[in-house]
Amino acid sequence: MLSSMCTVPHPAAHDEAVRFLSSNPGDPATYQTIAKLEDEAVELLGEITDLDEPYGYITSGGTEANIQAVHAARNLAETDSPNLVAPESGHFSLTKAAEMLGVELRTVPVDDDYRADLEALEAAVDSDTVVVVGVAGTTEYGRVDPIAAMTDIAHDAGARMHVDASWGGFILPFTEYEWSFADAPIDSMAIDPHKFGQAPVPAGGLLARDRATVDALAVDTPYLETTSQATLTGTRSGAGVAGALAAMESLWSAGYRQQYRDQQANAEYLASELQARGIETVEPTLPLVAAELAPGTFESLREVDWRISRTASGELRVVCMPHVTREGLESFVSDLDRIRS
Ligand SMILES: *Cc1c(COP(=O)(O)O)cnc(C)c1O
Repeated sequence: MLSSMCTVPHPAAHDEAVRFLSSNPGDPATYQTIAKLEDEAVELLGEITDLDEPYGYITSGGTEANIQAVHAARNLAETDSPNLVAPESGHFSLTKAAEMLGVELRTVPVDDDYRADLEALEAAVDSDTVVVVGVAGTTEYGRVDPIAAMTDIAHDAGARMHVDASWGGFILPFTEYEWSFADAPIDSMAIDPHKFGQAPVPAGGLLARDRATVDALAVDTPYLETTSQATLTGTRSGAGVAGALAAMESLWSAGYRQQYRDQQANAEYLASELQARGIETVEPTLPLVAAELAPGTFESLREVDWRISRTASGELRVVCMPHVTREGLESFVSDLDRIRS
């Protein structure tokens, strides 16, 4: 399976998820054990993203985290016609957020290396911009937007800065990229334990620098033991929370570092094998390979049961997640050779 952004959960995470399957962190005063685990999970996410006092919660995934970041930005802003500005490489969850929240979505082009174009961004923001979204690890090419420069542009316009590190958040700490709360004065972040974090689905994370962000999301909850709730969902399984915490406790930081090294090496191996065959390949700056296959090749690979996906422009897209092995990639390359001969 070379197309998935999720992976096999860590065994400890699997066990903990099962143990808390029917608890409900949506009602924390009643389910106090899982509520405490959620605080610990948010603390650990803060450690991974370089934020000393993190606010936030364990979401159902990057989609909910992105929606809630836009939601908070809209609620905190004082405009009747809010807009959000993001590069065209932004995840489709931003389209959902914009549509549901009545926020105009303005997308700006990317540069030659698939990163947000700063001039275009500067031209797109205005006094009605409530949030700028940068991606740290794009879904199609694994690129990291110029987060610090984007934050300056956002804050100069009076807007908030949100970083979508849903996919990249658990590998970026081991790279030189600027993406974290320490690297730039960003306001919020999405980071998914159920991707590189090796937690079982569903486990995402919404993090914020200030309490005001979660307060802007809170609604009164008359019949629960607790009096307010900042999550988008109501009742939610404790499996996501417990699984995320167990995965992070098992793997942060040595396990994640090793996994990043292994998968980056796998991506570079695959890219060089493809290039050696004259196949045009986008350089894998994170463990994600995109390559231009001749017509028909993609379908033939699927016919022999490879689970592969395409970028919007039709390139083969291989995501080197923790379940991807070197042997697996070798056999992929040999199937490719057979098909092309
Ligand atoms: C996967 C992903 C999302 C969406 O996350 P879900 O967990 O599928 O809801 C958002 N942004 C990026 C960059 C992603 O990779």
